[in-house]
Amino acid sequence: MTKFMKNTLDFTKVIQLQRLCAGAQTIAVLSHTNPDGDAIGSGVALTTFLTGFGHTVRFFVPNHYPKFLTCVPGAERVEIFSECADEARAYLADADLIICSDFNQISRLDKMTEAVEANVVAPRVLIDHHMDPPEYELSFSDPTYSSTSHLVFDILMAWGGAEAITLDVAKALYVGMMTDTGNFSYGNLTPALYRAVAELVERGVRPPEISQAVFNTQSENRLRMVGYLLSEKMRVDAAHRTAYITLTRAEKTRFNHQIGDTEGIVNMPLSIETVDFSAMFIETLECIKISFRSQGDFDVNLFAREHFNGGGHKNAAGGRYYGPMSEAVSRFEALVRKVRPVAGNEKQGEGGAA
Ligand code: 5GP
Ligand code: MN
Repeated sequence: MTKFMKNTLDFTKVIQLQRLCAGAQTIAVLSHTNPDGDAIGSGVALTTFLTGFGHTVRFFVPNHYPKFLTCVPGAERVEIFSECADEARAYLADADLIICSDFNQISRLDKMTEAVEANVVAPRVLIDHHMDPPEYELSFSDPTYSSTSHLVFDILMAWGGAEAITLDVAKALYVGMMTDTGNFSYGNLTPALYRAVAELVERGVRPPEISQAVFNTQSENRLRMVGYLLSEKMRVDAAHRTAYITLTRAEKTRFNHQIGDTEGIVNMPLSIETVDFSAMFIETLECIKISFRSQGDFDVNLFAREHFNGGGHKNAAGGRYYGPMSEAVSRFEALVRKVRPVAGNEKQGEGGAA
């Protein structure tokens, strides 16, 4: 145990992971649909690290990641299942080891799920910080980590010491830690996280450069869409300390919506003094995709699980509704009236990780 690591990491599991990797020629690293900074950061860091040991490693995600994540060194190694499905299927069918990073339900692999389940031989490893992990051969599952990238940092440190964290790996992990904590403003901001960040900075990471690349490279259209949504589409129910925003497909077209453009918008209503529960409804071809965020005690993981086919963390979760936007919203409004206490309590601290 070095002073840089969280004391919850189980070293015997790191040894098991080393053994599983040593016995594998070909490894598949996987992360979840609509990949965010933690999905890409943790997956790329694992891919880069394991490739250094001479394994054949390929990293697949179901669909495209936002453009701003091209700042992650090694992002060019991320393979998009929807763009190479046949080749990915063939690789996954024969892979000797499958490593699942930053998700806890196989359904989060969307159209890639079947291709992974077709391989019934390869052991599966879970590296994740969500609750309710599946039963895999080996599971690093710890919701007290604010990001999977922080967990990967600890695993790599236990595996190879500081040498394991090259500058490229350090940058990838920093992106995951930064994005899943809302730029270090919510989640489990533990001393261990800051010690890990100190180590990354020691390896050459420049936080202002990464903030610049992630937060300040958006399109003009995106900012105008944010302005429009906040001004025209945000509904605030102060009595229930709740706000929500809706975005239709027509509005996406109007603002030339690109993948990643809605990232972060659901957090914005939480800056209102009288709001500690926020939702965003986004119309897609298949369903209404919903994001939930809360501050304090209200458990959006439970809310998403029970009412909207989803899940996540206590303060950051997502789900889906299969039906028209108007129905999704009226269902939500009715639930809010039922499960949210009428205002009067003071706003509490802590938002949630994604
Ligand atoms: P976001 O709102 O940014 O899409 O997702 C926030 C968090 O909620 C994700 O990191 C993930 O943990 C969880 N999440 C989002 N969508 C789903 C979903 O459809 N199912 C489950 N189980 N979790 C989700
Ligand atoms: Mn995460």
